[in-house]
Amino acid sequence: MGWLDWWILPPCPLCQRTAQAVFCQDCQRKLQADQVATWPIETTPWPLYAWGLHRGGLRRAIYQLKYEGQRRIGSVLGEWLGSCWRKHNRQRQPFTVLPIPLHQERLQQRGYNQAALISQAFCEQTGLRHLPQGLVRIRATAAQHELNPLQRQQNLLGAFALQSIPSTPVLLVDDIYTTGSTIRAAEQALATAGIPLVGVVVAARAQPAATQAQIPTPLWPTPLPLN
Ligand SMILES: [Zn+2]
Repeated sequence: MGWLDWWILPPCPLCQRTAQAVFCQDCQRKLQADQVATWPIETTPWPLYAWGLHRGGLRRAIYQLKYEGQRRIGSVLGEWLGSCWRKHNRQRQPFTVLPIPLHQERLQQRGYNQAALISQAFCEQTGLRHLPQGLVRIRATAAQHELNPLQRQQNLLGAFALQSIPSTPVLLVDDIYTTGSTIRAAEQALATAGIPLVGVVVAARAQPAATQAQIPTPLWPTPLPLN
């Protein structure tokens, strides 16, 4: 790599040091070491496939993705999730992948949907059919993180609709999974059309504040190797 490359490549979004990829080697190693050892991480009410827990470097990475315009982080996380999916789901399944959409207003503010960046890269890795516009948010909703679980559920009632998607089973993709209320609302829209939800793929699993004390400290001794 010549001096010009060092000058042109953007620095690591997590530590501002020089990076030869999206993250510097150090941050990338830490993010990969934080991968959860179980795939899926949970099985009810849906199989939930997460890269890691919403803390530490992964939490900062998602913050940069959502609020600092670091779109490339979405592509990297989607790629990692996709390669993990390929490793564990060897049978080719006819699933449709739908990102959880933002409302039009927020999409315009941000300029992109972070979940769609993740699902795009995920589908490039897995070969699953990507329909980024398949699910639409038809109602603006209050920011979920400001609400308690019951309010979250009510906030999202009737928030989603489908746009001409096939009747094959669906995988939903989002950046963070907390209480599942967003997914539940999206599943209502799918159920109305008789389409089964077979799983949820997210970058990070967060715990709602109220149950924080009950989280067991997980052990992630052997991060899965990445292809
Ligand atoms: Zn770094």
